[in-house]
Amino acid sequence: MAQYARLVTGSELRDETVDLLSRLIRVDTTNPPGNETAAAELLREYLEASGVACELYAKAPERANLVARIPGGSGPSLLLLSHTDVVLADPAEWSVPPFSGEVRDGEVWGRGALDMKSQVAASAVAVASLAREGFRPSGDLIFAACADEEVGDGLGLEWLCEAHPEAVRASFAVNEGGGERLELADGTRVYQATVAEKMTAPFRLRVHGRSGHASMPRIADNALVSATQLIERIAAYRPEPQLGPEVEGFLRAILGDVPLASDAVERVAEVSPAAAALVEALLAPTFAPTVISASQKRNVIPALCEIEVDCRLLPGQHPEHVEPLIRAVLGGDVEYELEWIEARGGTRSALDTPLWRALGEFVAGVEPGARAAPLTCPGFTDSHWLREAFDTVAYGFFPASGEMPPEVAASLVHSADERIPVADLDLGVRWLRHAATALLA
Ligand SMILES: [Zn+2]
Repeated sequence: MAQYARLVTGSELRDETVDLLSRLIRVDTTNPPGNETAAAELLREYLEASGVACELYAKAPERANLVARIPGGSGPSLLLLSHTDVVLADPAEWSVPPFSGEVRDGEVWGRGALDMKSQVAASAVAVASLAREGFRPSGDLIFAACADEEVGDGLGLEWLCEAHPEAVRASFAVNEGGGERLELADGTRVYQATVAEKMTAPFRLRVHGRSGHASMPRIADNALVSATQLIERIAAYRPEPQLGPEVEGFLRAILGDVPLASDAVERVAEVSPAAAALVEALLAPTFAPTVISASQKRNVIPALCEIEVDCRLLPGQHPEHVEPLIRAVLGGDVEYELEWIEARGGTRSALDTPLWRALGEFVAGVEPGARAAPLTCPGFTDSHWLREAFDTVAYGFFPASGEMPPEVAASLVHSADERIPVADLDLGVRWLRHAATALLA
């Protein structure tokens, strides 16, 4: 397997990845409306030039998903998963045009540079370069660049898993959602990889009152004022912290031991202040009131106020587990109705797997003494659909080189001046080739 890594010099693949990423950024796939077919066509042309067979799957013609494959033997398969859509970019906020794909001072600039056309490009280059070298995998090596991840209207991987399961069924998958490189207080380097995710379970609270003219407030019962009491109670609530296997693995990797859940945030802050806020969000469900609607007229006291709460549950938790907790927090003195809006995600993959070992090997080879640390992803990713449909072992891992501090990268995702160091693309393509050759040799 190592022979493949030696066949090509790093700089050729790095330049190929930079070029492909710039071209992908120049295809505007802002979702909505998406228009991912244009990106899928570009990828098809690139991959077919290296002899990789591609198929476009589209529920709506302009929203195509691309699946490419180097067919292998009967062994376990590996899917390099990514999405081609991006979120809105307002040019007025940017220092370069957001769809320029410009390379400047060792960085590629543009919407999607981090989330996640970088990994789309690196995955495509990994597969294309292996195909050119005549790589014969023991199981299929699959590349899927999916539509509609950012909005989730059922046109992307969720739909593929249902309508074309044979196209994307895989034993292992590498997706977005991890790879941050932490420098601990003692100098140790740790690369985060996400192996589970929280469940997105938003709910709505409906508070009733009685309308009336706002010039005489006492004649009415203001639902907006009653609702503020509920908002304050939710905001003040601190659920009991608890440790799941992923956070335990993370604590062991960065602290050398597993502290009590109640001490975890403080202990992490001592070695990595950057990781403390993240760990805090992974110890318990979170509740963030984000949307409110009441009267549409200033002089009318509202009889109804609706609040939407962004709620994220721990892997394995479900709405019915936390609803009694929420009701206890809200109390019995304000009348309200609670309605769950949706519940998706919350799946996890095992840690004792060949993919985890490949990841650990890679990290140790990148920097002497560096370690991989598992973690839960606080948000939702497409890994969920694979775990749910096929029990795929799916990890989020696209390693950062450390040229850009992780807090800077985090602040640029979905924001202005999104960009990625060329060094990260270089490392990323090497990781994806390593994953393929280590698992499918
Ligand atoms: Zn993304």
